[in-house]
Amino acid sequence: MMLDTLQLMNFAAENEKLKAFSDFLKSENAKYNLTAVTDDKEIISKHFFDSLVGERFLEKGANVCDIGSGAGFPLIPLAVLRGDCSFTGVDSTQKKVNFINAACAMLDIKNCYAVHARAEEIKPRGSFSAVTARAVASLNTLCEYCLPALRVDGVMIAYKGSAAEEEVAEAEKALVVLGGRVEEIFRYTLPTGEDRAIVKIRKTAPTPAKYPRPGNKPRLKPIK
Ligand code: SAM
Repeated sequence: MMLDTLQLMNFAAENEKLKAFSDFLKSENAKYNLTAVTDDKEIISKHFFDSLVGERFLEKGANVCDIGSGAGFPLIPLAVLRGDCSFTGVDSTQKKVNFINAACAMLDIKNCYAVHARAEEIKPRGSFSAVTARAVASLNTLCEYCLPALRVDGVMIAYKGSAAEEEVAEAEKALVVLGGRVEEIFRYTLPTGEDRAIVKIRKTAPTPAKYPRPGNKPRLKPIK
């Protein structure tokens, strides 16, 4: 399935599961402080619409890992829209993992679950056909989180802001070292007016075994 902007907007605004997820997010947010976005229109635009834009890059039946899922974005909207794919969310914060799994159980979302782990620990390596990540780290750090988990020929879908080109330039060496190639920078505007971009990266070669480096090195000493 590949949705255009109007269809995406309608899906985000009208889908019953996403509405129920939004209510659950707002009620749990009061207890656990999961997201700064709490206004209904902003949830639809900045969380649901934005998350759903990435679905155009998922092949049929994809086995998807979402790294740093937080309160479930883009993980849960993608899982609701793409019942043909399976989704694993990974986050280093237990309360967010608990929230995602509670939401999936409550909303009967069967193709998605979350695990409490750091991106650097994802096992087995090279097992996913797609990896998504939004608002987790700069692109060079993110490449070290995502590319090891992907199988060769899989796609990394990095949700970025308007400075995507600069991030791509900064990640040039990381891409060569880790085995990735930028295929597309897809630009779009949210219904609330903000400019966004998705950087689609193809894994072209196996990632050397020494990556991802332990000890928070991908973030503290990104490949440059
Ligand atoms: N992707 C969500 C979104 O767009 O709303 C959450 C973004 S939040 C700013 C970043 C999330 O990434 C946090 O929930 C944090 O716990 C998680 N995170 C950061 N570094 C991580 C790592 N190395 N491994 C796993 N999760 C990580």
